[in-house]
Amino acid sequence: MDRQQEFVLRTIEERDIRFVRLWFTDVLGTLKSVAVAPAELEGAFAEGIGFDGSAIEGFARVYEADMLAKPDPATFQVLPWRGESPGTARMFCDIALPDGTPAKADPRHVLQRALGKAADLGFTFYTHPEIEFFLLEQGFRPGERPEPVDNAGYFDHVPHGTGHDFRRAAITMLESMGISVEFSHHEGAPGQNEIDLRYADALSTADNIMTFRTVIKEVALEQGIFASFMPKPFAEFPGSGMHTHMSLFDGESNAFYEAGAPYQLSKVGRQFIAGLLRHGAEITAVTNQWVNSYKRLWGGGEAPAHLTWGHNNRSAMVRVPMYKPAKGQSSRVELRTLDSACNPYLAFAVILAAGLKGIEEDYELPAETEDDVWGLTGSERRAMGIEPLPATLHEAIAVMERSELVADTLGEHVFDFFLRNKRAEWDDYRGEITPFELKRYLPGL
Ligand code: GLU
Ligand code: MG
Ligand code: MG
Repeated sequence: MDRQQEFVLRTIEERDIRFVRLWFTDVLGTLKSVAVAPAELEGAFAEGIGFDGSAIEGFARVYEADMLAKPDPATFQVLPWRGESPGTARMFCDIALPDGTPAKADPRHVLQRALGKAADLGFTFYTHPEIEFFLLEQGFRPGERPEPVDNAGYFDHVPHGTGHDFRRAAITMLESMGISVEFSHHEGAPGQNEIDLRYADALSTADNIMTFRTVIKEVALEQGIFASFMPKPFAEFPGSGMHTHMSLFDGESNAFYEAGAPYQLSKVGRQFIAGLLRHGAEITAVTNQWVNSYKRLWGGGEAPAHLTWGHNNRSAMVRVPMYKPAKGQSSRVELRTLDSACNPYLAFAVILAAGLKGIEEDYELPAETEDDVWGLTGSERRAMGIEPLPATLHEAIAVMERSELVADTLGEHVFDFFLRNKRAEWDDYRGEITPFELKRYLPGL
């Protein structure tokens, strides 16, 4: 046993932990959990805990169903919402096959592989997500329009407001779990909030996002409300994005930083953005994986709909945030497509792969778009070479299907499962007769 594993076992004794939840994520980004007694942990560290992978979305076909969950001791955390004594803790797991090799279906492994490739090139990938979500009144039925908890807007301070109390409780809980929060505020739509996590390496950030979603839902229920990460619950209000700030570090130094360059952005930074733009359409099905995701991308409300970049242009897909002289090493790029309901492991993996491709192949960064892309006409956009993002899940799947980059990054198993699952989702959606159609056509036709 190594020192981290010993530390976990010691803490479990000292803090009277009776249940340890082993967490992992399915291909669609749903958190899975199996609780084990502390006595099982030594075996779990050594060999893993067996479970039936065929029951997990995207994991296995029935004939290769046996899988092992091996907890990562670096992710050990006591769960504050389960009460102090006897306590409950959790660890994220790596998933292995019975012969001990990593399971190809494990999203955490997909990201680890992509990070390994970055490491071969000398880079560590850091991310900082701005996570938006809605707080809603409980009690709505499936298919019904929910009621936001307030009527406030961007940065509004609502005295004694639900959102205010909620953010304080949620952030306290996140910080007690070692997840640092940088900013939080009310977002543009009624009931909409944003919490930004501090920069961390991409694997920790993806783990933190999974924990974040659980914490937000738990705290909401404790307060008698409901939290949702659905990308676009209301047609007339902005949707919930998960803009992500990113940088590559080469040892201690930020590889995106170059003193004196435009926006302090190095050649590596420019190539990374060029990769995001060139491969942006192919990776959209992963960063925006639901039918509803495209209602956000194409519904205005400051979500990007075109493959552009800009310095301080909020209609751009990639934004290079304002240069702060005192913070030279903080050069970074912000990708604004992702939504809060993506699988963060898979999304970070394909984003990183797209950026690295730009570096490896020395892509040229096209001119930045200073105009508000929404304000341009279709022919103006064409003349400027501005390409749209996929407009529907159907279009996004069609581009992804032809992508070698996404196939290589996800691996054959996840790539095939994901496409099959998303085609089925699109077919289900296409088969629906919507309220729009009934309203628009039934009376007059
Ligand atoms: N809610 C917007 C989106 O869906 C982003 C608003 C903002 O700039 O933070 O992307
Ligand atoms: Mg925001
Ligand atoms: Mg942003």
